[in-house]
Amino acid sequence: MKLHESVTVRIEVTADRRFGTNSYLVEDEETHDAVVIDSNLEPDLVVEAARRSGARVRAILLTHTDLDHIAGLHELREAFGPIPVAVHEAEKDVVEQGKPLRREFGPIATRLENVATLVEGEPYRAGSLEFEVLHTPGHSPGGVTLKIDGCLFTGDALFAGSVGRSDFANSDTAALLDGIRSRLLSQPDDMIVYSGHGPATTIGRERKMNPFLVEPT
Ligand SMILES: [Zn+2]
Repeated sequence: MKLHESVTVRIEVTADRRFGTNSYLVEDEETHDAVVIDSNLEPDLVVEAARRSGARVRAILLTHTDLDHIAGLHELREAFGPIPVAVHEAEKDVVEQGKPLRREFGPIATRLENVATLVEGEPYRAGSLEFEVLHTPGHSPGGVTLKIDGCLFTGDALFAGSVGRSDFANSDTAALLDGIRSRLLSQPDDMIVYSGHGPATTIGRERKMNPFLVEPT
């Protein structure tokens, strides 16, 4: 049973040159409502992608708040207007108050208004788009994966052939692997994984090939 009309999304990826961090433009092909997922160090690339396609960007969604995923927020807000920035509760203070995410790095000068909360189990709606929110912590406490139309935006939890770093003070290796297994590997094989860094992959491929996740035989 379908609870709501399904959407077909068009995805465009832009990566910055310094950290290779991906910023995604996710656009409803029919309505052109769109969101940006993560805000890398070259926000002009995703702004340009939105302009080219005529997307109406309704919100910015953050998979987590490491600097390379939030660096371009002010520029995106300048380009798209004061649209909501949505983030998990556990990392809200990073974008709202400028509280450092990592004790290993200094504070950052990000203080934003209109910050929305991503809650596991509560759909996040932006115009005609509706995302499912999965809590995938461990790289950072408020790590989330965003699901829409056969796609998973996993941030720095899961990569093609790898998983996120979990050696920071507020990281948790067991939680990272547990979240990946329970929330991500439980998804169908053909789900496409769009990571915070590097190329896209699928759940089926990672279940079989990812050296951090393959069960010993
Ligand atoms: Zn990252």
